[in-house]
Amino acid sequence: MAVSQESVSRFRLDPCRLPAEAEQLRGEVRAFLAEHLASFPTWRRAYTWMGSDAAFSRKMGARGWIGMTWPQQYGGGERSSFERYVILEEMLAAGAPVAAHWIADRQSGPLLLKYGTERQRSDILPRICRGEAFFCIGMSEPDSGSDLASVRTRAERLADGWRLNGTKLWTSGAAHCHYMIALVRTSAAEKKHQGLSQFLVPLDGREGITIRPIRDLAGNDHFCEVTFEDARLDDDALIGEEGAGWGQVMAELAYERSGPERYLSCQPLLAALARHLGGEAGPREQVAIGRQVAHLATLRQMTLSLAGLLDRGENPALEAAVTKDLGGVFEQDLPGLVQSLLPVEPRVDDGAAEIQQLLAHLTQNAPSFSLRGGTREVLRGIIARGLGLR
Ligand SMILES: Cc1cc2nc3c(=O)[nH]c(=O)nc-3n(C[C@H](O)[C@H](O)[C@H](O)COP(=O)(O)OP(=O)(O)OC[C@H]3O[C@@H](n4cnc5c(N)ncnc54)[C@H](O)[C@@H]3O)c2cc1C
Repeated sequence: MAVSQESVSRFRLDPCRLPAEAEQLRGEVRAFLAEHLASFPTWRRAYTWMGSDAAFSRKMGARGWIGMTWPQQYGGGERSSFERYVILEEMLAAGAPVAAHWIADRQSGPLLLKYGTERQRSDILPRICRGEAFFCIGMSEPDSGSDLASVRTRAERLADGWRLNGTKLWTSGAAHCHYMIALVRTSAAEKKHQGLSQFLVPLDGREGITIRPIRDLAGNDHFCEVTFEDARLDDDALIGEEGAGWGQVMAELAYERSGPERYLSCQPLLAALARHLGGEAGPREQVAIGRQVAHLATLRQMTLSLAGLLDRGENPALEAAVTKDLGGVFEQDLPGLVQSLLPVEPRVDDGAAEIQQLLAHLTQNAPSFSLRGGTREVLRGIIARGLGLR
């Protein structure tokens, strides 16, 4: 089916500029990074928003850089999404270890702000803002990844709360988090998107919850399998409305897929490439770097526009899927491009040069860029549907 004028007009990404007050923050963030990451190892910069450091998160919290856009009554700064964007962009470009608070700041906090109870908001949001409460995403299960609505983890209502049974898989950071927001089935329904609900699950060592780290091919164990065996939750663990979990989780995914982390995961490597070449770049290298920078500028505009749409309370699921897909292609290709331009081998040992270490770690991680947050094929299905093509 051809892409019609009408289907393209459903796509809303208007050009947008960072306001002056947002740009003013940049110098402050760079000074903070120079002070706190002066001796931060190069290879750890390759992990950036997958690299965790609770103490660093607390320092960011003390600056007011977590929950920046949230109401002051919950510890937030009531700043604009554009100011938040500058913080994210600078942290990612420096490869700062922001994983500990990333999910809480990006999606769990906004979800609680929108659907949480007053008690959940006033208890938890200030702790997120201080860098003291970390969250993980309990969506995927052993047989439910792309087909998320097929989740089988179940919550049953009891007289004084809920009983949870099932398994969540590939849960990033669960072993170091204080809470999970889990999508689970609360009733059998004719259509699988119905009968789902979201729960706030405290990961506080309570009986019935087992967290097992899983080692990935790069030797990291940030992934976890989280098993619930008759785990008990309080009555007020339900987030939002019972049975409305599918709509809520779709809104959460727009936050998950729309930020600059979807194209800046390899930014320290691109910067290292430019440094490595110095004034020695020939026409081939100049064309390659120029092309990357042009893509970067476009992806930056797209994510800035998404920040504007989210600021206005819209749900840009289609635009976020397009941005994540294009960003994923861009960042996934970068390690291969660097290797094709430079006569260097990826190496992880301490004696290796900066660029070799970054190359080695990112080459190992890049395959996951088109899986995490929704696979490439699934995003393209969402895009086709959003444009009315399927
Ligand atoms: C680094 C990383 C971090 C992650 N962190 C989390 C997390 O914190 N929390 C969480 O809940 N999950 C997390 N995940 C899981 C991730 O969301 C799933 O891996 C992803 O959604 C794919 O699900 P799956 O692994 O079950 O693969 P499947 O869904 O089985 O897919 C296998 C292959 O089939 C293709 N496929 C499936 N359905 C279709 C279709 N309809 N049309 C075309 N092709 C299709 C897919 O594109 C893929 O190539 C993470 C994954 C990674 C890699």
